[in-house]
Amino acid sequence: MPKLHNETDIGYKRRVIDIKSTSFCAAKWYNATIWLGSGQTTSCHHPLPHQVSIEQVITNPKALHNTPQKKEQRRQMQRGERPAGCEYCWKIEDMPLAVDVVDPAISDRVYKTVIYDDKDLEDAFYTPPEQDVDLQTLEIAFDRTCQFACSYCNPAFSTAWVRDIHRNGPYTDLVSDGRNHFTHEHGSSQLYTINEVNPYVEAFFKWWESDLHKTLKELRITGGEPLMSGYTWRLIEWFKDHRGQSKTRLAINSNLGFTQDKLERLLDATESIDLDLYTSNESIGQHAVYIRDGLDWNQWTSNLVYLLDGGKLRGLHVMCTINALCLISLPEFLWSIVELKKKYGKDAINFSLNILRFPSFQSPLVLPKDVKEQAIEELIKFHMANAHNLHEFEVNQVERLFNYLREVASPHSGAMDTIILQRDFKNFYEQYDQRRGKNFRETFPQLAEWYDTL
Ligand code: SF4
Repeated sequence: MPKLHNETDIGYKRRVIDIKSTSFCAAKWYNATIWLGSGQTTSCHHPLPHQVSIEQVITNPKALHNTPQKKEQRRQMQRGERPAGCEYCWKIEDMPLAVDVVDPAISDRVYKTVIYDDKDLEDAFYTPPEQDVDLQTLEIAFDRTCQFACSYCNPAFSTAWVRDIHRNGPYTDLVSDGRNHFTHEHGSSQLYTINEVNPYVEAFFKWWESDLHKTLKELRITGGEPLMSGYTWRLIEWFKDHRGQSKTRLAINSNLGFTQDKLERLLDATESIDLDLYTSNESIGQHAVYIRDGLDWNQWTSNLVYLLDGGKLRGLHVMCTINALCLISLPEFLWSIVELKKKYGKDAINFSLNILRFPSFQSPLVLPKDVKEQAIEELIKFHMANAHNLHEFEVNQVERLFNYLREVASPHSGAMDTIILQRDFKNFYEQYDQRRGKNFRETFPQLAEWYDTL
């Protein structure tokens, strides 16, 4: 087991990570997200993605992960230097400590490292950085087909978003870092049409069938919406046809925007596959419908219960993207997950809190002070009441969120002044309302007065 019995996250960090270097993170070696539609990769969802060379993957499919950029970042981490793209973690680690807090905040590099064996971490640390490394955990997106167009997403990851831009033209009058996400259809995110051969997809299946299925511990399919991609079903069929030949755990991210008979096809696959399902949400009712355009709240909640009742999944995980608009109902949302934990068991459903940084005008940090303070108060109450109902990583994530809201002033080092972000916030949602038939003021009456001053 990577962690010792009763070892805390901070104890683990000191024992295993800090003795290697002050910036070591195993994700650079053993984890990757790869978007096959665009041929891009990154070591986790925080650093911006970079391009993989087609020429390299044609001769060596492992180049989908072992890019020159990652090799350079491994070298930096071996020397205790901080790769700039990992700013998300450095920002969490550099947060000033509140008066009543002793230990520094735990950043994601601890959670991204603790899942691997100590021996593998040693091997990574001492492997020459120019050498290819076999992946242990991989998140892969085959294409961007998706029926949702969430406000914090963009056309690079959703065909519903592409349709918005195609029909209505670019969003205008945005000046901060998110502006280009919403001004064009992101053709470079889908380099090949459905009828063309995509060399990145070809390389993935070549790698998978030759040896990746033997070395990979977890494969997580993301999107777009993976259940709408034929390649997802091709992979599921591979697992069914090669039963027992791969120990890879399969996980799928899904927005769960499907009728239960469609989910049944997935559950049928669990007869031969151990499956984890990850789904996204972070607020309640009309707030969720507003933020995650395309969502049917009742369908999402009843699908969650349907999956829990079925008991066929290895795990069900809710990923919360902490954006400005979810803060009001996030505590209630978390309470509802605790209720499900009480009914189905602490392990049956888990949550993670991922703090949004891009586009920075949708960051929770753009909100007025009183709204943030109210959220902090509610999160602290939730934290105090539920420590025993939650896993340690969930407790830590709630704690780091209220510390983040309390201590951090800017979403990232390149972000513009709050006043500019707030102006973009309003400019964006005014246009979003028009295009999507929504109404910000009616959905978030608690924010309406502030919104009208922007
Ligand atoms: S952002 Fe953090 S978790 Fe991700 S690769 Fe960098 S150090 Fe690791």
